[in-house]
Amino acid sequence: MKCDVLVAGGGPTGCVAAAHMAGELDVKVLEEHSRIGEPVQCAGLVTPRVVEMASANDAVLNTIDGAYIHFPGGRVIELQGNEVKAVVVDRGEFDRRCALLAEKAGAEVLTGRKVDSLERTADGLRVRASEGELDCRAVLAADGYRSSVARSLGLGQARDLVRGLEVDLRSRAEDQRKVRVFLGNDIAPGFFAWAIPCGDLTRVGLCVSRDRGTPQDYLPRLLEAQGWSQAERVRTYSGAIPLGHIPITYADRLLVAGDAAGMAKPISGGGLFTGMTAGKLAAETFLTAFRSGDLSEKKLSFYQEGWKAVYGKELRNSYRVRKVFVRMCDRDLDKVGARLDNAKAKAVLATGDIDFPTAIAPGLLKACPSLLTIAPLLIFRLLWR
Ligand SMILES: Cc1cc2nc3c(=O)[nH]c(=O)nc-3n(C[C@H](O)[C@H](O)[C@H](O)COP(=O)(O)OP(=O)(O)OC[C@H]3O[C@@H](n4cnc5c(N)ncnc54)[C@H](O)[C@@H]3O)c2cc1C
Repeated sequence: MKCDVLVAGGGPTGCVAAAHMAGELDVKVLEEHSRIGEPVQCAGLVTPRVVEMASANDAVLNTIDGAYIHFPGGRVIELQGNEVKAVVVDRGEFDRRCALLAEKAGAEVLTGRKVDSLERTADGLRVRASEGELDCRAVLAADGYRSSVARSLGLGQARDLVRGLEVDLRSRAEDQRKVRVFLGNDIAPGFFAWAIPCGDLTRVGLCVSRDRGTPQDYLPRLLEAQGWSQAERVRTYSGAIPLGHIPITYADRLLVAGDAAGMAKPISGGGLFTGMTAGKLAAETFLTAFRSGDLSEKKLSFYQEGWKAVYGKELRNSYRVRKVFVRMCDRDLDKVGARLDNAKAKAVLATGDIDFPTAIAPGLLKACPSLLTIAPLLIFRLLWR
């Protein structure tokens, strides 16, 4: 087999990239699993702009316009937005919509094909996959958090990782328009837990830092504490999210995008917006490079400038917030809760955009200057660097 661009991984990042370049280039997507979108490893909470990027309205299960934040000491802060802030998607269906976009544009999406290894040849790359060899002129590594493709060509690994576990419970949440977020070192150390309403089901899950135990240690406790331990478990999902992107996301004939590059947002773990945006930018970079006949590292470096221009600052700031957050004890978290529990701060929080969570930092500090006393160094960096 031969093609112009081989996309390793048929997730949303790879398929969106394929959809954007297949009109002009011969593109093949190799997905190791036999069905696109399975197994699901996601809570499926995204902004409406992400649904638009995938033309995936049919995958939407619910819309969300607010949140309840549960602090470890028992305080609950209710946030009410004045518009739809997020939607809940059926992640399997969402991925299949992305694959359909790629196929409609002319890409070949091949399932049950695992990329085993990659080597450079005189005029391209040779990919060894489960069904044989394939020669291509360039590769997009979109093979998710375990990415072996980028690593095999010498690009690094994300700095950090959280592991997650989630169940769909047969239990109808009273408030269908708000997600619940649970904070605390006994609940989800190094990250947070969530409950997302989806009609007659509630999606309950959590992630924990890799050095703080496993999510299996914590989920039963959360279910017990919230009175969900008897609810029927309709489906269980697990997975991991790499955080802290790899420093270089390009090489000769190679780009890396999405979880393979550790592009998920370090505060929330959301990786669909960043991955799909990077996929589109990777496709545009390849198109320009192929038109000029130059697939060198230098030419492809524009890709990194592109994604950094959209959300590089957000990832940098979010990672700093995460570094402080993981060091906070429950008392610190409760102090934050106490300072945020006022009308002005809640009004600012309710305007937040989950794709750019740190953008509200200046407004929040103005509304709530006492936050400065909790993490002055972090706040200084967020505002002035
Ligand atoms: C518990 C949990 C909850 C989450 N919740 C959210 C959320 O609510 N919102 C959000 O935006 N993000 C969420 N995420 C993160 C999100 O799932 C990822 O960021 C997103 O899937 C990244 O997309 P991707 O296409 O880069 O990678 P993936 O979706 O992982 O796709 C990579 C694909 O590559 C395939 N693959 C891997 N290796 C090979 C190989 N060698 N050959 C061929 N194919 C291969 C895999 O099978 C997979 O299909 C969550 C993650 C977890 C674990």
